[in-house]
Amino acid sequence: MEPILVVRGLKTEFTTSRGILRAVDGVDLDIGKGEVLGIVGESGCGKTVTALSIMYLITQPPGRIAGGQIWFRGLNLLAGGEEDVRVRPRPKGPPKLIPSDSHLKKHRARMNKVRGRGMSMVFQEPMSSLNPVLRIGYQVAEVIIFQRRQELCDRILSHRSLTPEDRELFRQAIVTLDTTERDRIVIDLSARAGFRADKVNTLIDASRLSIDERIQRLEKLAGRSRRADRSWARFLKRLDALEEAHVAREWARLSRRSLGQAAIDLFDPNKNPIAKGLPPLASVSPREEALELYFRAPSDRGRDREKGGGLVPTEDLRAAVEDLLQKSEGGPFGVMFADVESVVLGERAIELRFPAHPPFAPGAELDYLLRRGLYRFFLLLPVVRTVLMRPVEEEARAYVIDLLRLVRIPEATKVYGEYPHELSGGMQQRVMIAMALAGEPALMIADEPTTALDVTTQAQILWLLKDLRKRINAAILYITHDLAVIAELSDRVAVMYAGKIVEDSPVADLFREPLHPYTQGLLESIVSTESRQLEPGSPLPTIPGVVPDLLNPPSGCRFHPRCKFAFERCRLEEPLLLSPTPNRKVACHLYDQEAANVRAP
Ligand code: SF4
Repeated sequence: MEPILVVRGLKTEFTTSRGILRAVDGVDLDIGKGEVLGIVGESGCGKTVTALSIMYLITQPPGRIAGGQIWFRGLNLLAGGEEDVRVRPRPKGPPKLIPSDSHLKKHRARMNKVRGRGMSMVFQEPMSSLNPVLRIGYQVAEVIIFQRRQELCDRILSHRSLTPEDRELFRQAIVTLDTTERDRIVIDLSARAGFRADKVNTLIDASRLSIDERIQRLEKLAGRSRRADRSWARFLKRLDALEEAHVAREWARLSRRSLGQAAIDLFDPNKNPIAKGLPPLASVSPREEALELYFRAPSDRGRDREKGGGLVPTEDLRAAVEDLLQKSEGGPFGVMFADVESVVLGERAIELRFPAHPPFAPGAELDYLLRRGLYRFFLLLPVVRTVLMRPVEEEARAYVIDLLRLVRIPEATKVYGEYPHELSGGMQQRVMIAMALAGEPALMIADEPTTALDVTTQAQILWLLKDLRKRINAAILYITHDLAVIAELSDRVAVMYAGKIVEDSPVADLFREPLHPYTQGLLESIVSTESRQLEPGSPLPTIPGVVPDLLNPPSGCRFHPRCKFAFERCRLEEPLLLSPTPNRKVACHLYDQEAANVRAP
């Protein structure tokens, strides 16, 4: 399956008065297009921090993404992020984190173009995620306006004259007594013909005029306002296109730069265990050797530097990668080798990712800066802002109603004007899902979206997610501590323990034969009326011990204090995430030999 998200060696830590808490410590994940990956584990094992790191929503400081790569659709989302927070060591205590406001601002601006349209997130508590003083419709429309303004402008520009059907709709709206039905007709009419709903309502209520007179007024009014709306829509469209190109170029430049380092890291056995089986880099300085062996000398790459400044792989390196890909065919490290290819040949991937962005024409950058300045100035003036943005907001309204209907909210038109507290928990969560879908993302992260809901509503939300998955074909990263939910929804499951992935497996295989002792413990803790009979009064099965303190985790395997199979090596050496059987990965010394057998040619 084509990977859409590849996470390698992700490390996220928090600086506290007691020391550095490594909440995520070297997580590797892959999600294919349209796949549902479940992440499961006890509370505090790093599931949510992993998701927030992927979305780049970690508060820095006290948090910091300390290492790793997050490749999403050909982009390294952490590229350029190394300058966001500087670490200054102190003689005593944890180091001091010094944020660079300018770098953080730029990185967040770049990420704003990835979040929403690329990936989105549904949070745990809908009530604390929705703004209590803003209406539902406004909150969802805000997302649509931010993420899909070009489409809204296209719709404004494509509006046409009134058709007989539009006239008939308007006539129906005048004679309909049911206000909900009238609202629906007005929204339909506004979306079809580009009218502003408030103007339509004013004319509907003008009872001193005949119906024909009101139709004539509507035509005139729309004709006048349409010209201004069109000019503004053209302005916004051009601004958005320039901004998108600007950000895309910035991403491409940074991702190219990080490709070189990522390729070198892949050949470094200290960072990548798989590199132990690759053409050896024997020197004590793998970076220098890899540079010499696999990349063109700086003097040879003047033109490439102009293109983006990234390291350029030599034909030798490409050949080595091809060789690795052939050797790994069908093997357990296919995804890892696919990463090697995507990293090393990433220049090509980036070019494919941005085919629609030719080089900036002379003057385009200036055009962009001028338009952006003008736009920001207009938004500072409340009256001007209201007048200019109204047509866009009207267009977004039709989208919002459609989205609310998509997530099965009854009476979507009514809910549009309601406040969050007027909705039940299930309805609020549906609104959150609608917001997450507003940008039509390729990946949706759902962080325990059913935790705060009762069982019946949980089932409805799960059913909705399953249904949406089929309809929108987005990949879903589903975080939960409930294995039953995982079994219901996921294709694959990653089990997390103390900031690390300890098992990654297709969901059916995991339930049939869990490999890691921690996964076995989790499954044994499920009380089932069919599989096991518990004596009255006997304690429920649990995993002995408690989750370790991540400020001071156990040495070697972090699970060893609770593991009934632990032996000496477990206390000394940290197990790697290896593949004892195709399609499955486990981090446990019990399976090292099986993994070695699978790796052998
Ligand atoms: S590595 Fe050792 S302690 Fe860790 S899960 Fe495996 S057997 Fe248990």
